[in-house]
Amino acid sequence: MRRPMVAGNWKMHGTRASVAELIGGLNQQALPAEVDVAVFPVSVHLGQVVEGLSGGVVSVGAQDCAVEPGQGALTGEVSGEQLRDVGCKLVLIGHSERRLILGDSEEQVVRKFVAAQVAGLVPVLCVGETLEQREAGETLAVVARQLDSVIEALGVAALSDAVVAYEPVWAIGTGLTATPGQAQDVHAAIRARVAVKDANVAGALRILYGGSVKAVNAAELFGMPDIDGGLVGGASLNADEFGAICRAA
Ligand code: 13P
Repeated sequence: MRRPMVAGNWKMHGTRASVAELIGGLNQQALPAEVDVAVFPVSVHLGQVVEGLSGGVVSVGAQDCAVEPGQGALTGEVSGEQLRDVGCKLVLIGHSERRLILGDSEEQVVRKFVAAQVAGLVPVLCVGETLEQREAGETLAVVARQLDSVIEALGVAALSDAVVAYEPVWAIGTGLTATPGQAQDVHAAIRARVAVKDANVAGALRILYGGSVKAVNAAELFGMPDIDGGLVGGASLNADEFGAICRAA
Protein backbone atom coordinates (compact mmCIF):
# COMPACT_ATOMS: atom_id res chain seq x y z
CA MET A 1 0.00 0.00 0.00
CA ARG A 2 1.06 3.58 -0.56
CA ARG A 3 2.40 5.43 2.46
CA PRO A 4 0.38 8.60 3.02
CA MET A 5 2.13 11.97 2.95
CA VAL A 6 1.09 15.32 4.36
CA ALA A 7 3.16 18.29 3.27
CA GLY A 8 2.94 21.86 4.52
CA ASN A 9 3.78 24.55 1.99
CA TRP A 10 4.54 27.64 4.05
CA LYS A 11 4.80 29.77 0.89
CA MET A 12 6.30 33.24 1.43
CA HIS A 13 5.33 33.35 5.10
CA GLY A 14 7.28 33.69 8.30
CA THR A 15 10.05 35.48 10.10
CA ARG A 16 12.80 33.82 12.13
CA ALA A 17 10.67 34.42 15.22
CA SER A 18 7.38 33.05 13.85
CA VAL A 19 9.19 30.10 12.29
CA ALA A 20 10.78 29.29 15.66
CA GLU A 21 7.31 29.27 17.17
CA LEU A 22 5.95 27.03 14.44
CA ILE A 23 8.85 24.59 14.84
CA GLY A 24 8.20 24.50 18.58
CA GLY A 25 4.54 23.71 17.93
CA LEU A 26 5.39 20.97 15.42
CA ASN A 27 7.83 19.37 17.83
CA GLN A 28 4.97 18.98 20.31
CA GLN A 29 2.59 17.28 17.87
CA ALA A 30 1.86 13.59 18.14
CA LEU A 31 2.41 12.67 14.49
CA PRO A 32 1.35 9.30 13.11
CA ALA A 33 4.32 7.01 12.40
CA GLU A 34 2.65 5.65 9.26
CA VAL A 35 2.47 9.06 7.57
CA ASP A 36 5.37 10.91 5.89
CA VAL A 37 5.23 14.51 7.07
CA ALA A 38 7.15 17.33 5.42
CA VAL A 39 7.27 21.11 5.58
CA PHE A 40 8.41 23.57 2.91
CA PRO A 41 9.63 26.89 4.32
CA VAL A 42 11.17 29.74 2.31
CA SER A 43 14.80 29.02 1.45
CA VAL A 44 16.30 31.49 3.94
CA HIS A 45 14.60 29.58 6.76
CA LEU A 46 15.56 26.07 5.63
CA GLY A 47 18.62 25.74 7.87
CA GLN A 48 16.70 27.00 10.88
CA VAL A 49 13.89 24.52 10.26
CA VAL A 50 16.21 21.55 9.63
CA GLU A 51 18.07 22.30 12.86
CA GLY A 52 14.99 23.08 14.91
CA LEU A 53 12.81 20.06 14.13
CA SER A 54 13.47 17.26 16.56
CA GLY A 55 13.39 13.51 16.19
CA GLY A 56 13.73 13.28 12.41
CA VAL A 57 9.96 12.82 12.09
CA VAL A 58 9.28 15.78 9.83
CA SER A 59 11.23 16.11 6.59
CA VAL A 60 12.11 19.48 5.13
CA GLY A 61 11.71 20.52 1.52
CA ALA A 62 12.18 23.63 -0.58
CA GLN A 63 9.50 25.43 -2.59
CA ASP A 64 11.51 25.60 -5.82
CA CYS A 65 14.98 24.88 -7.20
CA ALA A 66 17.19 26.10 -10.02
CA VAL A 67 17.08 24.53 -13.47
CA GLU A 68 20.73 23.53 -12.97
CA PRO A 69 21.47 20.99 -10.25
CA GLY A 70 24.94 22.13 -9.22
CA GLN A 71 26.65 25.49 -8.75
CA GLY A 72 27.27 28.30 -11.20
CA ALA A 73 26.42 31.76 -12.42
CA LEU A 74 22.66 31.94 -11.84
CA THR A 75 22.11 34.98 -9.66
CA GLY A 76 19.31 34.62 -7.15
CA GLU A 77 18.75 30.89 -7.68
CA VAL A 78 19.29 28.03 -5.24
CA SER A 79 20.26 24.65 -6.65
CA GLY A 80 19.19 21.17 -5.70
CA GLU A 81 22.72 20.41 -4.56
CA GLN A 82 22.62 23.39 -2.20
CA LEU A 83 19.21 22.37 -0.91
CA ARG A 84 20.48 18.86 -0.19
CA ASP A 85 23.49 20.36 1.53
CA VAL A 86 21.28 22.21 4.04
CA GLY A 87 19.26 19.08 4.75
CA CYS A 88 16.35 19.15 2.30
CA LYS A 89 14.88 15.88 1.10
CA LEU A 90 12.16 17.16 -1.21
CA VAL A 91 11.33 20.10 -3.43
CA LEU A 92 8.09 21.43 -4.89
CA ILE A 93 8.25 21.67 -8.67
CA GLY A 94 5.82 23.65 -10.81
CA HIS A 95 3.58 25.02 -8.07
CA SER A 96 0.80 27.00 -9.75
CA GLU A 97 2.00 30.23 -8.13
CA ARG A 98 5.34 29.73 -9.88
CA ARG A 99 3.71 28.76 -13.17
CA LEU A 100 1.12 31.54 -13.21
CA ILE A 101 2.64 34.43 -11.25
CA LEU A 102 6.37 33.87 -11.65
CA GLY A 103 6.30 32.59 -15.20
CA ASP A 104 7.77 29.11 -14.86
CA SER A 105 7.30 27.54 -18.29
CA GLU A 106 6.55 23.88 -18.92
CA GLU A 107 10.15 23.51 -20.11
CA GLN A 108 11.54 25.06 -16.93
CA VAL A 109 9.33 22.82 -14.83
CA VAL A 110 10.80 19.76 -16.56
CA ARG A 111 14.37 21.05 -16.14
CA LYS A 112 13.76 21.73 -12.45
CA PHE A 113 12.29 18.25 -12.03
CA VAL A 114 15.45 16.76 -13.56
CA ALA A 115 17.71 19.01 -11.49
CA ALA A 116 15.92 17.91 -8.32
CA GLN A 117 16.40 14.23 -9.09
CA VAL A 118 20.02 14.70 -10.15
CA ALA A 119 20.63 16.35 -6.79
CA GLY A 120 18.96 13.48 -4.94
CA LEU A 121 15.81 15.34 -3.95
CA VAL A 122 12.29 13.97 -4.34
CA PRO A 123 10.35 16.29 -6.65
CA VAL A 124 6.74 17.01 -5.73
CA LEU A 125 5.30 17.83 -9.14
CA CYS A 126 2.33 20.17 -8.83
CA VAL A 127 -0.40 20.09 -11.46
CA GLY A 128 -3.85 21.61 -11.67
CA GLU A 129 -6.31 23.63 -13.70
CA THR A 130 -7.57 27.20 -13.35
CA LEU A 131 -11.25 27.97 -12.81
CA GLU A 132 -11.54 29.05 -16.43
CA GLN A 133 -10.09 25.74 -17.61
CA ARG A 134 -12.40 23.75 -15.33
CA GLU A 135 -15.44 25.64 -16.57
CA ALA A 136 -14.36 24.99 -20.15
CA GLY A 137 -14.22 21.26 -19.40
CA GLU A 138 -10.45 21.16 -19.85
CA THR A 139 -9.41 19.90 -16.41
CA LEU A 140 -8.22 16.44 -17.41
CA ALA A 141 -6.53 17.72 -20.57
CA VAL A 142 -4.61 20.38 -18.65
CA VAL A 143 -3.47 17.99 -15.96
CA ALA A 144 -2.56 15.35 -18.55
CA ARG A 145 -0.45 17.88 -20.44
CA GLN A 146 1.42 18.91 -17.29
CA LEU A 147 2.07 15.27 -16.42
CA ASP A 148 3.01 14.30 -19.98
CA SER A 149 5.70 17.00 -20.14
CA VAL A 150 7.65 15.11 -17.52
CA ILE A 151 6.80 11.62 -18.80
CA GLU A 152 7.70 12.48 -22.40
CA ALA A 153 10.98 14.16 -21.46
CA LEU A 154 12.17 11.66 -18.89
CA GLY A 155 10.18 8.48 -19.23
CA VAL A 156 7.61 7.20 -16.78
CA ALA A 157 10.31 5.73 -14.51
CA ALA A 158 11.12 9.29 -13.37
CA LEU A 159 7.83 9.22 -11.47
CA SER A 160 8.92 6.28 -9.34
CA ASP A 161 11.06 8.69 -7.29
CA ALA A 162 8.57 11.51 -7.25
CA VAL A 163 5.28 12.63 -5.76
CA VAL A 164 2.46 14.32 -7.67
CA ALA A 165 0.27 17.00 -6.11
CA TYR A 166 -3.05 17.84 -7.72
CA GLU A 167 -3.91 21.40 -6.79
CA PRO A 168 -6.84 22.99 -8.61
CA VAL A 169 -5.87 26.65 -8.83
CA TRP A 170 -9.41 27.77 -7.98
CA ALA A 171 -9.20 25.93 -4.66
CA ILE A 172 -5.89 27.42 -3.53
CA GLY A 173 -6.21 29.96 -0.75
CA THR A 174 -9.85 30.55 -1.60
CA GLY A 175 -11.57 28.39 0.99
CA LEU A 176 -13.19 26.58 -1.96
CA THR A 177 -12.14 22.98 -1.55
CA ALA A 178 -12.68 20.51 -4.36
CA THR A 179 -15.25 17.99 -3.22
CA PRO A 180 -13.77 14.59 -2.42
CA GLY A 181 -15.49 13.30 -5.57
CA GLN A 182 -14.07 16.05 -7.80
CA ALA A 183 -10.58 15.48 -6.44
CA GLN A 184 -10.85 11.69 -6.67
CA ASP A 185 -11.88 11.90 -10.33
CA VAL A 186 -8.74 13.83 -11.22
CA HIS A 187 -6.48 11.68 -9.05
CA ALA A 188 -7.85 8.54 -10.68
CA ALA A 189 -7.29 10.07 -14.12
CA ILE A 190 -3.69 10.91 -13.24
CA ARG A 191 -3.05 7.39 -12.01
CA ALA A 192 -4.71 5.89 -15.08
CA ARG A 193 -2.58 8.02 -17.38
CA VAL A 194 0.60 6.83 -15.67
CA ALA A 195 -0.71 3.24 -15.68
CA VAL A 196 -0.92 3.26 -19.47
CA LYS A 197 2.88 3.58 -19.44
CA ASP A 198 3.65 1.49 -16.36
CA ALA A 199 1.11 -0.05 -14.00
CA ASN A 200 3.65 -0.60 -11.22
CA VAL A 201 4.82 3.01 -11.20
CA ALA A 202 1.17 4.13 -11.22
CA GLY A 203 0.24 1.83 -8.36
CA ALA A 204 3.07 3.11 -6.18
CA LEU A 205 2.77 6.80 -7.11
CA ARG A 206 1.62 9.05 -4.29
CA ILE A 207 -0.83 11.70 -5.46
CA LEU A 208 -1.54 14.45 -2.93
CA TYR A 209 -4.50 16.81 -3.01
CA GLY A 210 -3.97 20.51 -2.35
CA GLY A 211 -6.37 23.42 -2.17
CA SER A 212 -7.93 24.67 1.08
CA VAL A 213 -7.23 21.46 2.99
CA LYS A 214 -8.16 21.98 6.63
CA ALA A 215 -8.55 19.80 9.69
CA VAL A 216 -12.32 19.73 9.09
CA ASN A 217 -12.19 18.40 5.51
CA ALA A 218 -8.95 16.38 5.50
CA ALA A 219 -10.28 12.99 6.60
CA GLU A 220 -12.97 12.90 3.92
CA LEU A 221 -10.52 13.88 1.17
CA PHE A 222 -7.82 11.48 2.35
CA GLY A 223 -10.40 8.70 2.54
CA MET A 224 -10.75 8.62 -1.24
CA PRO A 225 -9.02 5.67 -2.90
CA ASP A 226 -6.59 7.65 -5.07
CA ILE A 227 -5.87 10.50 -2.65
CA ASP A 228 -2.69 9.66 -0.75
CA GLY A 229 -2.47 12.73 1.44
CA GLY A 230 -2.33 16.47 1.10
CA LEU A 231 -0.30 19.51 0.20
CA VAL A 232 -1.47 22.10 2.68
CA GLY A 233 -0.94 25.85 2.42
CA GLY A 234 -2.58 28.22 4.89
CA ALA A 235 -3.57 25.56 7.43
CA SER A 236 0.04 24.36 7.69
CA LEU A 237 1.03 27.63 9.38
CA ASN A 238 -0.77 26.51 12.53
CA ALA A 239 1.02 23.59 14.18
CA ASP A 240 -2.08 22.23 15.93
CA GLU A 241 -4.19 22.32 12.79
CA PHE A 242 -1.39 20.84 10.68
CA GLY A 243 -0.93 18.10 13.27
CA ALA A 244 -4.63 17.32 13.10
CA ILE A 245 -4.44 17.11 9.28
CA CYS A 246 -1.50 14.71 9.55
CA ARG A 247 -3.48 12.55 11.95
CA ALA A 248 -6.36 12.45 9.45
CA ALA A 249 -4.15 10.85 6.77
P1 13P B 1 -4.11 26.50 0.61
O1 13P B 1 -4.12 25.26 1.48
O2 13P B 1 -3.78 27.74 1.38
O3 13P B 1 -5.31 26.59 -0.24
O4 13P B 1 -2.86 26.33 -0.40
C1 13P B 1 -2.71 25.16 -1.12
C2 13P B 1 -1.39 25.17 -1.79
O5 13P B 1 -1.16 25.89 -2.74
C3 13P B 1 -0.34 24.30 -1.26
O6 13P B 1 0.75 24.22 -2.10
